[in-house]
Order: sequence, then structure tokens, then C-alpha cells
Amino acid sequence: MKEITEPLLNWFKKNKRDLEWRKDSSAYSILVSEIMLQQTKAQAVRPYYIRFIQELPNFEALANCDDEKLLKLWEGLGYYSRARNLKNCAKQIINRHNGEFPKNYDEAIQLSGIGDYTCGAVLSRAYNLKYAAVDGNVLRVLSRYLASPLNISSATTKTIFKKQIEKILPQNPGIFNEALMELGATICMPKVILCDQCPIHSTCKSFLKQTQHQYPIKNEKKEKKILEYTCIFITDNQKYIFTPKPDGVLKDMPAPFLIPSFIQGKEALDFVDNMGLQALREIKLPEKRHIFTHQIWYMKAYKIIVKRLGNYPAYTEQEIINNLGISTCFKQFLKDLFTK
Ligand code: SF4
Repeated sequence: MKEITEPLLNWFKKNKRDLEWRKDSSAYSILVSEIMLQQTKAQAVRPYYIRFIQELPNFEALANCDDEKLLKLWEGLGYYSRARNLKNCAKQIINRHNGEFPKNYDEAIQLSGIGDYTCGAVLSRAYNLKYAAVDGNVLRVLSRYLASPLNISSATTKTIFKKQIEKILPQNPGIFNEALMELGATICMPKVILCDQCPIHSTCKSFLKQTQHQYPIKNEKKEKKILEYTCIFITDNQKYIFTPKPDGVLKDMPAPFLIPSFIQGKEALDFVDNMGLQALREIKLPEKRHIFTHQIWYMKAYKIIVKRLGNYPAYTEQEIINNLGISTCFKQFLKDLFTK
């Protein structure tokens, strides 16, 4: 595979996208961008990354940031556990490593939320260390380049590809890793494959056999689980109750009360009465749907007016919009919630 190094690096130099996080080679900015880019496309990440780095410019600022602010900065990116892990990671770096991302793999991989890919990406790009960073893009490119019969869903394949890349890493391993990922993101894409623009097509096995669409070999996608919920938004017409979701998807995120089935308005009123709050009336809100990675939620919703909110955490409209950092799953109800 050594033959791909030079053409790939030359191609990357001329064709790389102008991405905000490529302007700063500190371990901190690489880490923040890599965590944001997991499951989210570069264009969507851009404004979040800029805002995040402005507000929290280093590990210390992140470690000391309060959770409300953190979730607000992350609001819309989804996968909030990534934000929490990132903050835990910053705390560990401050407490155990004098504020500096560790320079060796064995220490770095112990950090909260840091997997093999992120570890390789940060170590190679920030410190020029010879570690591969194998993400989905890289797996796809290699699978096609080698016309590999290996299933890329398997951890063993990942290890095999990683070792192959580490054998050919040049003096600037971080740039090589980025180039390989860029090729996967812009040329050797999942459905669209632009082989005529690819710098390594003359030695690509699947291209030479015109079998590139047969790769990569991978497991069939699992069907998403369909779930039904009723969202109960409780208000005294001044503030609205949002409490941390106790478990599952969106755990610890501010949420309305969730009943795991569709219920009628009368049952929603009873539910609120049983909480010890005096329910006065209910307003049915339009139904919504939200798609997560492994689940689809169909949601009914009621706004329940009560006399008093008791000791539950409650927020004004402005606080909900500006500070609360709620998931887009619930955000889609807000317009109706505040106007009906
Ligand atoms: S030649 Fe085509 S299939 Fe091969 S690596 Fe390039 S884009 Fe992918």
C-alpha cells in the first residue's frame, strides 16, 4: 500500500476543504472537533465548533464550565453523552496530566470518551506520532482499494486495516490520516464514488476490476426500534417544568414527563394530579416524530395547566429558549407549547 502515500498527500494539499478546525493544530481543538464530528457532518459542525471554541477555549475552561452552559453549546448536535464525556475528559487532563493531552497512547486511551480512533487522530495530528485514525471513511476507502473480502463491521477488520496503515505512515502521519479521511468524505463516498477524480485509482483493486460498488462488505443495518410516548408539559402559565430524564436515550437531559405509550387527555390530567399538582385543564399539542440513531419516537403531547408547580424545576420561556439546552426532540413542541 506504500504506493498511495505520495499521490494521496499531493491530492490533499491541493483539494482539502477549508475547515475551521484545520487552522488550529492544538490537541484541544482537534479533540473538540473530532468529538463533534462523530455522527455529524462537517458543514453542520462548523458553527457549533466556532461557538464552542470561543466560549471554552481550552481544557481548563471546559473542565470548569457548568453543565447548563455545556448543554446549551451542544444543543442541536445530539448525542449529549459526548459533551459530558468531553467535559470529564477535560477534568481528567487538568487533574492527572497538568492540563496537557497525554503524549502516549496508553494514557490517552484511558481518558473519558476517548476511543481508538480519537486517540489516533489527536496523537497523530497534534504530536506527529505514528498512529492511524481509522473511522468509517477510512474503512470504506481501504475496503475498496484492497477489494477486501473482510467485513468492516468487525473489530478484527479494523485492527487489520489499522496495522496496514501504520506500516505506511509517512513523517507527517496526522496529515496522512486526514487525507485518507478526506478522500472517504469527498471522493470515495458511501453511495457516490468519484473514481475518475481519485488520486489512487491507478492502483485501486476494485476500480481496476470495476467492482467498487460491491465494497465495503458490512453487516446489514438493523431496523430502528419504533417507540410511542406521550409528553406531558406542565405549566402554571408562567413557567414550565423540565426535569432531567432519568434513563435511556437523552439521559440527564432536561425533558417533559414522558409516558411510554399514547394516553388520552383525561389520563394526562390524572397523571399530573397523582404528582400532587392540581391539574386545571389540558391542551392537546400537535403530534411529532423524532429519529434517533437506533430508535424512532412517535410523540403525542399535552400541555397541562396547573395551579402551582410545587418543587419541580421550572423555567420561563426565555430561560428555556436561551439557557436550557433541550434536545431537538422536545424543541419541536416549543412553538405550540408557548402559543396554545
Ligand atoms: S478508485 Fe474509486 S473505489 Fe478506489 S479508492 Fe478511489 S474512489 Fe475509492
